[in-house]
Amino acid sequence: MSELNVSIVTPDGPVFEGTATMVIARTKAGELGILPNHVPLVAPLKIDIVRIKQESGEEWVAVNGGFMEVNGEEVNILADTAEREQDIDLDRAERAKARAEENLQAAKDQKVDELMAQIALQKAINRIHTKEH
Ligand code: ATP
Repeated sequence: MSELNVSIVTPDGPVFEGTATMVIARTKAGELGILPNHVPLVAPLKIDIVRIKQESGEEWVAVNGGFMEVNGEEVNILADTAEREQDIDLDRAERAKARAEENLQAAKDQKVDELMAQIALQKAINRIHTKEH
């Protein structure tokens, strides 16, 4: 069976390089399951988990937005930040989540930018969900 070559890259360098039988990612238009020979596409991603299915199991990566390019057997994801589940510091994500929730509350009183707090909250929750795999 043919496989996908998957790479997840950030400005700090590669986060994941490997093969997969399937990649599941949430694009702004909805969830996509990519198999070998998927039609070529470029899609913006949501802050969400990218699931990399392999014969041996499934690896989860927390991806903070960015873009996914699919071309033949190649799946390339470029994002601002991305972390493999084993690299996520759960305490740090829990602290970031608490801070974001406080900021969202403050945003109701116009003290901080609500959108920034919502994005921070999504990133923290995504890291926590990825770590809980
Ligand atoms: P924090 O408020 O905890 O710094 P953040 O969302 O502001 O979180 P980012 O700016 O998205 O952090 O990321 C900065 C760097 O830290 C990136 O390299 C990112 O991969 C890493 N990072 C952020 N949060 C975590 C985490 N909980 N565990 C491991 N790495 C993390």
